[in-house]
Amino acid sequence: MFGLMQDWPLLCHRVIDHAAANHGTRQVISRSVEGPIHTTDYAAVRANALRVAKRLDRDGVKLGDRVATLAWNTWRHLEAWYGIMGVGALYHTVNPRLFPDQIVWILNHAEDRVIMTDLSFVPLLEKLADKLPKVERYIILTDKAHMPATALRNAVAYDEWIGEVDDDFAWKQFDENTAAGMCYTSGTTGDPKGVVYSHRSNVLHSMIAATPDAMNTSSRDVVLPVVPMFHANGWGLALTCPMVGASMIMPGPKLDGASIYELLNDYRVTCSAAVPTVWMMLLQHMEANAGKLPYLNRVVIGGSSCPRAITQKFQDVYGVDVIHAWGMTEMSPLGTLCTIKPDHAELTGDAKLDLLMKQGHTPFGVEMKITDDDNKTLPWDGTTFGRLKVRGPAVTKTYFKVPDQILDDEGYFDTGDVSTIDRTGYMQITDRSKDVIKSGGEWISSIELENLAVGHPKVMEAAVIGITHPKWGERPLLIIVPKKDQTPTKDELLGFMQGKIASWWMPDDMVLVEEIPHTATGKIQKTALRTRFKDYVLPTATAAE
Ligand code: ADP
Repeated sequence: MFGLMQDWPLLCHRVIDHAAANHGTRQVISRSVEGPIHTTDYAAVRANALRVAKRLDRDGVKLGDRVATLAWNTWRHLEAWYGIMGVGALYHTVNPRLFPDQIVWILNHAEDRVIMTDLSFVPLLEKLADKLPKVERYIILTDKAHMPATALRNAVAYDEWIGEVDDDFAWKQFDENTAAGMCYTSGTTGDPKGVVYSHRSNVLHSMIAATPDAMNTSSRDVVLPVVPMFHANGWGLALTCPMVGASMIMPGPKLDGASIYELLNDYRVTCSAAVPTVWMMLLQHMEANAGKLPYLNRVVIGGSSCPRAITQKFQDVYGVDVIHAWGMTEMSPLGTLCTIKPDHAELTGDAKLDLLMKQGHTPFGVEMKITDDDNKTLPWDGTTFGRLKVRGPAVTKTYFKVPDQILDDEGYFDTGDVSTIDRTGYMQITDRSKDVIKSGGEWISSIELENLAVGHPKVMEAAVIGITHPKWGERPLLIIVPKKDQTPTKDELLGFMQGKIASWWMPDDMVLVEEIPHTATGKIQKTALRTRFKDYVLPTATAAE
């Protein structure tokens, strides 16, 4: 027997309908790419999204077509997302920081028919356009006055393009499992992979994200999403904020400390979200300028692990709570968030910080387990670590145009991360599974060694990779970028680490380098380091022979 409730598909445009009807005057304030601050509200965002949908419909964009965006967080990008989804097409966010060849590969693989782009990326696209035969039209997210002379195919200024129609358009209707958007993983191993979100997964993910033990977003919030909409589905904020009626402050292209600080205080932002590097820049700016954060009450930090010093400063100096979060493109992206459960309510000082350093616990809608290499489930004891696997209604089940089976027998997706989970359900990442060092059948966490090494006063940045070893399989090599005018020695570094880790975790050797390569999303590019040091012979290797 089925329930007798209404068939009300979870469609993303219902979110902007709800925002316009119930929170219509809540503002969306953006630092425009052209420079000045721009103010609009949810009622007007919806009206323009309807124009986008009507205009795309007139251009022949249909159900299932892909429309790429190379754009910063602004009101136009927000309108574009809803308009694209409302006509049944997919918003396809492309990270403009990727290498040009990767951008071309991704746009061709997705077969985008239209590209919407900010002025900032017109020169880049002009260089790539010859290699993009499928793109029929370029829409430049600007007005007529700022429209550059460009040879991009059928280029038109967004404001003019939507100005050709009114907002009298009915959203297309379809099943809630219809594709709504897509985002490619950054492809640090092999080609990038396309993750395709559905209307249903996006709506559910946003409901999950707003819950009190996740981002706790409400109509009383003013949210500044620093995380770009092109990074991991923009952490869902383009849907979560309108869904609850939170005002949005969009930073446009300026993500430096001074610019973010200005927006946080001028617009009384209560909640913001970004990767650790952004917060590092903000804290540096505030330290140099005696900054204060009277309105901000919490920041969500994820994308890579949040350094202890950031959490400590926010909390102790500025009175701002830090919610450490973990997730990935394949999870829409939220997986866990570190809010404090009653079990830990009494914690203070270092013990509380230890807890806040964990990546947190799952909201309803995400299930996780850790396993060994044979997919045997491991205990939640806070010390055993294994492959972290997840399932849920906003977790990917397969990649775009790749027929491979990627789930295990129980429907879990292997995140590629290695973690512990404690008795109270708090997960802590110890490594990426491909970066973990397998020494004599046991695992050594490269991240833990790196975090320890960067604590040394002469060290600017550290990376640890596994080097083949005749006896142990692999042993750790410590790669160090020293601070300016410093030359730390191997004895100094290993002496510093002594006693802080198990003796068999101690790196077998250390090398100094000028620079460590990074990916487009700021992560250490271990594949490049492994290639560079593939013939490296550890001193302990010859001794073992
Ligand atoms: P990108 O490489 O584009 O940033 P993702 O956002 O999908 O792609 O990256 C997801 C990965 O980032 C996770 O699998 C994990 O390795 C890492 N990550 C995300 N958040 C955290 C965190 N809070 N702590 C440690 N690692 C994290």
